[in-house]
Amino acid sequence: MTFRATVLTLYPEMFPGPLGASLAGKALEEGIWALDAVNIRDFATDKHRSVDDTPAGGGAGMVLRPDVLAGALDGVADGRPMLALTPRGAPLTQERVRELAAGEGMILLCGRFEGFDERIFEARPIEPVSIGDYVLSGGELGAMVVLDACVRLLPGVMGAASSGEEESFDESLLEYPHYTRPVTWEGRTIPEVLRSGDHAKIAAWRHERAVDDTRLRRPDLIERHGGASQAPPSGAQRDSEEKNK
Ligand code: SAH
Repeated sequence: MTFRATVLTLYPEMFPGPLGASLAGKALEEGIWALDAVNIRDFATDKHRSVDDTPAGGGAGMVLRPDVLAGALDGVADGRPMLALTPRGAPLTQERVRELAAGEGMILLCGRFEGFDERIFEARPIEPVSIGDYVLSGGELGAMVVLDACVRLLPGVMGAASSGEEESFDESLLEYPHYTRPVTWEGRTIPEVLRSGDHAKIAAWRHERAVDDTRLRRPDLIERHGGASQAPPSGAQRDSEEKNK
């Protein structure tokens, strides 16, 4: 079953853009997923083809008109989840990405200017999604982020079938750190345990590092992970973090 993405945007020429390269691009070519970029302006109804108007109540910028947005959404709606990119949305999580990737695809609505007339969220079942606590100039890069995160999880996209199985944000932890050859580089040697061949010890070390690094860098995640949230970071981890500064 092909995973179908439809992007509603004022800049359809931005797609597939970076999604046409590497893993996602190859999967697109192979038909594992399909991408359709639709111009919101095609649903404008007046002779000037306007899609936006000044904000009610005053203020800077322009707001995307709900009638035009509804026309675009209704033109492609077919039961797939509808997401709108907005900094006012709930931050995207790996958990939501996994759910979306398990479905048949999605419709993504990209904002520009000051964003969307709020009534579109009341009138249509749209999930407002943010890609982080900062403001972009448009939703297109956000849509690409959502799609990239989903597409890499589709069956047949990642080389090793297992490489999506144990990753950052599973169990609300960051992933453990990775190392590869050379064994010694600029005087730094790969941790002994990783060269020991003792798989139980390696697994224990990796889990410990995942917890330590998460506690240090993402205390917000560790709270969700639970349990280990009280103790301060271990001395070893603090030292290596210092050294890397
Ligand atoms: N005035 C709005 C920001 C508008 S930015 C506000 O303060 O909330 C213009 C468009 O860029 C938005 O409509 C949205 O589609 C996109 N955008 C900006 N930041 C985003 C973010 N963090 N996540 C997802 N989309 C974002």
